[in-house]
Amino acid sequence: MKIKCDVINDLLPLYVDDVLSDASRELVDEHIQECGSCRKTLENMTGKVSIPVSPELRKEDTKPIKGLKKIVTKWKWLTAVITVLAVLAILFLGFQYINAKQIDIPYDGSNFTFELRGNSYYLVYHGQGGFLISAGAADGSGEWNIEFSQTLFDKYIWPLYHDKECALRFLEKDTITKLTTRDGKVIWEANEEELKAYKEWVASHPDDWRVRKD
Ligand SMILES: [Zn+2]
Repeated sequence: MKIKCDVINDLLPLYVDDVLSDASRELVDEHIQECGSCRKTLENMTGKVSIPVSPELRKEDTKPIKGLKKIVTKWKWLTAVITVLAVLAILFLGFQYINAKQIDIPYDGSNFTFELRGNSYYLVYHGQGGFLISAGAADGSGEWNIEFSQTLFDKYIWPLYHDKECALRFLEKDTITKLTTRDGKVIWEANEEELKAYKEWVASHPDDWRVRKD
């Protein structure tokens, strides 16, 4: 039977194209009456509906269907796995994006304040969310300049789990004389007493990185 099926399978494309001799055509006709597997192959090639057959032959029919079900199940799993991976990739890239894109926050005279809290100076943002700083000092003068920015994460996600304003600890007391933005706006300046305290701190910390001139 198996050898015959192979032969019939070879003939099926010709059968579908209607180029077989009458004798070969009869052979195929006879075979597909008896063989569910070849009939299925033919149906797949032509898209025709099955010829009614006896219950015994039906049993034989179910074998290729089971095989097909296995393939469909495998595809479902593969599709599910690919979908999950795609969703994770999108979430990851989205997270990278909202974390990486830094937007400048221009200082407008009141959106940031420089405050002494305990023994440290803090930068406090009065706008929405958290922020980042980029700061530099002129050698030994105690004068600092600063730029503010925030990511989309800082602006929109950070406030979800912080109910206070964002405050960054910046420098210790007496270690700074002036804070300006990169474009020259003065955020804070030491008064006479604070300047005196700064000079005293410099005198007693000659090797501090903020004092040393290299
Ligand atoms: Zn067959």
